[in-house]
Amino acid sequence: MKDFVPPRRGIVFIVSAPSGAGKTTISRAALDRIPELAASVSVTTRRPRGSEVEGTDYRFVTEDEFRRIRERNELAEWAQVFDACYGTPKQPLDEAIASGRDILLDIDVQGARQIRAAYRRDTVTIFVLPPTFQELEQRLRRRGTESEAAIQGRLERAREEARAYVEYDYLIINDDVDESIEMLLSIVTAERSRVTRLSPGFVPWKS
Ligand code: 5GP
Repeated sequence: MKDFVPPRRGIVFIVSAPSGAGKTTISRAALDRIPELAASVSVTTRRPRGSEVEGTDYRFVTEDEFRRIRERNELAEWAQVFDACYGTPKQPLDEAIASGRDILLDIDVQGARQIRAAYRRDTVTIFVLPPTFQELEQRLRRRGTESEAAIQGRLERAREEARAYVEYDYLIINDDVDESIEMLLSIVTAERSRVTRLSPGFVPWKS
């Protein structure tokens, strides 16, 4: 930890990608390697996969619970992705921004649009794409967690989603995972140094 960090609001880093682009690997590595960056834990109606842990990977809820959470306005954004609903809890996000803590959201294009609309000046958006469509297909098959129909659905959606990159601040072509992680680290470091993020009234060397 540095001796002195100028006061500023927390930054919301959004990472989006078509499924199979390697986004989860990159964002997990970023969370391990970037100091003072926390993951937002989404609420979802989808069932846990493999080694996923309740409360760490997601908060897994029923459709009724999700609807109640949504109706109580506890979500900063929500979207239906494939057959499930996903949402970002609002309170932890607001608290992080207000107290200068940075937070990473791994959410889809629809969710990114909603967060950007609501938190424009505090949001930095990053889009991750594999170098080729074939690469995406291979990665999805290698993962082996979905049926053929689900893979086809994800591929179709990926083609659509890839076009949304123009709405984002940064594009990472994930050819080499280590290089992609370095790029993400650089983005976070640069964004943290922006003068426009400093708290109003900040005067260097005041004390
Ligand atoms: P998966 O089911 O593979 O974990 O995630 C499927 C998609 O849902 C991914 O694109 C992921 O980024 C997105 N997603 C996960 N959590 C959220 C969320 O809270 N809101 C939105 N809008 N999308 C999410």
